[in-house]
Amino acid sequence: MEEQKKELHCSECGVKIEGEYYKCLDNCLQVNFFDTEEENCFCSTECFDKYMSLEQLNIEDDEDEI
Ligand SMILES: [Zn+2]
Repeated sequence: MEEQKKELHCSECGVKIEGEYYKCLDNCLQVNFFDTEEENCFCSTECFDKYMSLEQLNIEDDEDEI
């Protein structure tokens, strides 16, 4: 009997995953960010960054706010 292949989609942009994908392996983040194993699935590191609200800041911009 052939096992049906699970269809995965990127949690950020929703694109269908075919082949390689990114998955967060950090336990603490997994608990906080993902309800199911399927949600921990991203087509690119850019999508993962967006999902995790990772932002590029400038150290000089930061200093103005102190
Ligand atoms: Zn994506």
